[in-house]
Amino acid sequence: MSTETLFLGTVITVDETNPRAEALLVRDDRIVAVGDAPTVRAQAAPDATVVDLGDRALLPGFVEAHGHPSDSAVILSHIMIDIRPVVVPTADAVMTLLHEGVAAHPEGVVFNGWDGLLQTGLTDPTRASLDEIGGETPIVILHNSGHVVYFNTAAAARAGITRESTDPVGSHWEKDAAGELTGKGFEVGAVLALVGPALQEAAHELPHLLSAYLRGLNAVGITTVSDMSWDHTKQPALDAARAPGGSGLSARLRLYEMSAPGKTASVTPENGDALVRQVGIKTWADGSPWVGNILISFPYLDTEGTRSIGVEPGSHGSANYTRAQLDEVVERYFPAGWQLACHVHGDRAVDLVLDAWEALLQRHPRADHRLRMEHVGAMTPAQFERAAALGVTVSLLIDHVYYWGDVLVDELFGAEHGGPWANARAALDAGLRISFHNDGTVTPAEPLRNMAVGMTRTSRAGTHLPGAAGVTLEEAIRAETIDSAWQLFSEHEVGSLEVGKFADLVVLSADPATVDPGGLPSLEVVATYLGGEKVFGA
Ligand SMILES: [Zn+2]
Repeated sequence: MSTETLFLGTVITVDETNPRAEALLVRDDRIVAVGDAPTVRAQAAPDATVVDLGDRALLPGFVEAHGHPSDSAVILSHIMIDIRPVVVPTADAVMTLLHEGVAAHPEGVVFNGWDGLLQTGLTDPTRASLDEIGGETPIVILHNSGHVVYFNTAAAARAGITRESTDPVGSHWEKDAAGELTGKGFEVGAVLALVGPALQEAAHELPHLLSAYLRGLNAVGITTVSDMSWDHTKQPALDAARAPGGSGLSARLRLYEMSAPGKTASVTPENGDALVRQVGIKTWADGSPWVGNILISFPYLDTEGTRSIGVEPGSHGSANYTRAQLDEVVERYFPAGWQLACHVHGDRAVDLVLDAWEALLQRHPRADHRLRMEHVGAMTPAQFERAAALGVTVSLLIDHVYYWGDVLVDELFGAEHGGPWANARAALDAGLRISFHNDGTVTPAEPLRNMAVGMTRTSRAGTHLPGAAGVTLEEAIRAETIDSAWQLFSEHEVGSLEVGKFADLVVLSADPATVDPGGLPSLEVVATYLGGEKVFGA
């Protein structure tokens, strides 16, 4: 027996050969017909469930090309105290939560989401200032970017970090002139050394936390999400969630295993299935604009903002990896057949990566590699063209423009370099296929806002950023559907509404083409389907 659903109304297919249709028929988990209403209706079984869309619109389920579901699920749970600027906007409120958290958890406490540039008035915590607040209580604070961790003496002692500790590759412990730990660690190696134990503590809860997190993504229309901080020790949790009687996985996962010194991939490129599959490897070049460690050709401005985050006046930032280290990493993974996704923001870091990848492709030519650059805040039009010539693709954290747009221009880089931040228009003009993303807990998962921001380039305060034009609605939709699916090597099964693909669908309260770009975020997600099954909506 088969189950069929017939959708009648506005169907936005994101299929160039047939961009709009009047009807779509789902049988079991697949799309079996798309087209004009009489033709599609004629193929439906008499007992098919009919969904009359009315004023609503049917689109492919959204694809989050760069997420962190397995970490976000834990970070946003009871394991940590949430101080993200989207939740806790003021410095005073952050400090209140810090004191309350310490009082409630004398055994130790982890906070997530510090951002002195948005929570203005905060100054970078130090080991001494956190000792004053925490005393014997270990305090760990994760910066909202995920690129810095702050800690007090008790937390360092518990994690076994001393002034003699060596820096993990690509990461470092900041030390003062006397060689003492300042209480600040940069990048993933340092972050995991301090936050890892809390993540580990929650390991047994991961199956149901992850299931709940994915249901949250369904509520904003997402049906496929990449995991950019995958680590194979989480595999049992995934297996438990999807096992019969488990808490379930209501979105497809595309995993990128974190590269690590001396390691190779824990599975082969042929692995998994249509629900869960490892497609690539995550690498890094530089860090976060908000903590001063992206490698740029122009200087950070000398402002109250840059002083509050501890950036030296005139600093051009830094890379976390040398060219030799980048070469060493790519060589361990790429020849085995993996796609690489490299975190890179600064324009000089972009050059470093493009140089390394150009040489890599000469050593190991591959026709369809889809090498990915992630975030690419300060990437220039000429660099997008160079990327296009190499077959490299980019995924943009476009929401930076919304939440940090004013900070980018006024506090960090000025109009010339901050204005065109995450320049999607230039990337498209260079001929690249692009995606937009929200990057786990860094910004809320909000594909409709990403589209609006890509089109309007307007900050939350209402400032229109200078220096880059917006994208069209059609380009914005592609960046959240078919082109992000393509970046995940999944365009053959999801990302557009075509016969044979999975019925991963989202129903919006109105046709996006009928609202102003600025109004896109207020469209309602009415229902979300994964493989024909409703995973969100009444
Ligand atoms: Zn990320």
